[in-house]
Amino acid sequence: MIILSLIFAVQCNSDENCDDVSIVGGGIAGSYAAWRLRHTNQRITIYEYSNRIGGRLNTYHFPSAPDINVELGAMRFYPEVHTLLNKTICDVGLKPEIFELGGLAKSPNTLMYLRGNHLRFEEVGGPKTPYGLRPSQLKPPDQLKSAKAFYLKYGGQEVYNYLNDLNGFNSMQGSDTSATVALPISPPTIPIVNTITGGMNRLPERLVDMFLKASRKHSLHLNKNLIAIKKRFDGKYDLFFQGTDTINGQTNIRKDKTLIRHCAKKVILGINRLGLKQLDWDVLYRPHIRKLLTDATQDINKSKLFLVYDYPWWRRKDLNTNYIASDTPLRHTYDFGTSKFTHKSVLNAMYLDEDVDVWLELAKRDNRNAGENDYTFKPGNETICFAHKYLSEIYQIPRKHIPYPIDGIIVFWKNYPWGGDWNFWKPGYIWNEVEKQMVQPSKYDDIYIANNAFNAGTIPIWSQAALEIVERVLKQMKV
Ligand SMILES: Cc1cc2nc3c(=O)[nH]c(=O)nc-3n(C[C@H](O)[C@H](O)[C@H](O)COP(=O)(O)OP(=O)(O)OC[C@H]3O[C@@H](n4cnc5c(N)ncnc54)[C@H](O)[C@@H]3O)c2cc1C
Repeated sequence: MIILSLIFAVQCNSDENCDDVSIVGGGIAGSYAAWRLRHTNQRITIYEYSNRIGGRLNTYHFPSAPDINVELGAMRFYPEVHTLLNKTICDVGLKPEIFELGGLAKSPNTLMYLRGNHLRFEEVGGPKTPYGLRPSQLKPPDQLKSAKAFYLKYGGQEVYNYLNDLNGFNSMQGSDTSATVALPISPPTIPIVNTITGGMNRLPERLVDMFLKASRKHSLHLNKNLIAIKKRFDGKYDLFFQGTDTINGQTNIRKDKTLIRHCAKKVILGINRLGLKQLDWDVLYRPHIRKLLTDATQDINKSKLFLVYDYPWWRRKDLNTNYIASDTPLRHTYDFGTSKFTHKSVLNAMYLDEDVDVWLELAKRDNRNAGENDYTFKPGNETICFAHKYLSEIYQIPRKHIPYPIDGIIVFWKNYPWGGDWNFWKPGYIWNEVEKQMVQPSKYDDIYIANNAFNAGTIPIWSQAALEIVERVLKQMKV
């Protein structure tokens, strides 16, 4: 922990201006919390690390293709499942529209490129499947194993009995239930996949806009990095911020050591796990809270590469696809379309999780400063050549026929303040207990954590989970 007074000069705001509620983090969680509190006649301030609202909802527009929403973060949602998100989008007057590129792998347009072979999704499990499977194993993946067979093989009879008896519903663990359903790793096939007209970013921006217009007591402070919270003798809190600078889309912490102090009566922390881990607030250092914070869920790193071309060289009648899932280092490749204004075309050449290091290494070779805080770059030659090698393979077009892109952007979700792109629960934790603890880590403090990493209800990889956790916080605050 930092001994603030020894290291930093501190600028103070007056205590008369103490926030009733300080919301730290201007992602969808922070902006939704602000919007939900907008009519409570309180002095509320949002503090955000970067110079923009949205966090991991980040819609970028290439100057050469200004009408194409390049989603560097979240790009879609399932309206029938993500009902609170869908309702909020409609409540603020935004329009959901069909996400033409579909959901996870199973959309009709999906083409798989596996071990050098193209397969339609419906062909997976058929005779063309390029894996050394026994005839009895040649089935689509979700029919391959029943949950019962899975548990028997990897747990044994007694583990199966234990889980089955506890579950109450035999069908969930039964011989006929797919292990991919019983052990859900992605939502089941859902017909409707939506996005937001104009880009996902429009939701947090609209929420904050409505929050700011709702009262003169509301304000937004950008480029403020919260580093410490100290409780005062009068029961209020001092929040200590460092200034940050955003230059060409990159936000970095200012080198000067001046801290800005703001006073708050209540605090909502809508910040990521990495931000929380680095935050100097004594409650987060209590051993049981620290363990949950650092160990109950894990951050998954992600990266996306978008390239702009003069023409859509990859569109081929015989392939007829706007999405290829492959076993190459590109993993997912989406055709993001052609600009109606400039006729330039955008390809989301790579979208992958976890194995981002190879792309970080390429960025380094391209002399991009993949430093502590930077997370978007213009790709250099090494990155482009590497991408072209695999694009040539999956589209089966010779490399020399692939033109050089006229623009591009690569994003890494790994560094501070993100830590990762989404979170998965680690084994051994009781989700509800973790959520209860983390939403209000100290019952003697009016400090609440709205972080979807600790959402016990929905898989914490979706924006919906961020809205749900804010609702839990508001309930806890008795709003
Ligand atoms: C590549 C990618 C793809 C995704 N795909 C989807 C998808 O298709 N659909 C979907 O629903 N979800 C998707 N997600 C997940 C979704 O984007 C997140 O769950 C959601 O945006 C999380 O919102 P949040 O407000 O909790 O966190 P964030 O968006 O991370 O917001 C936290 C904010 O707090 C700020 N902050 C952090 N620390 C501090 C500090 N110390 N001081 C001040 N400010 C701070 C950050 O700058 C940030 O703006 C995806 C995410 C990524 C990265």
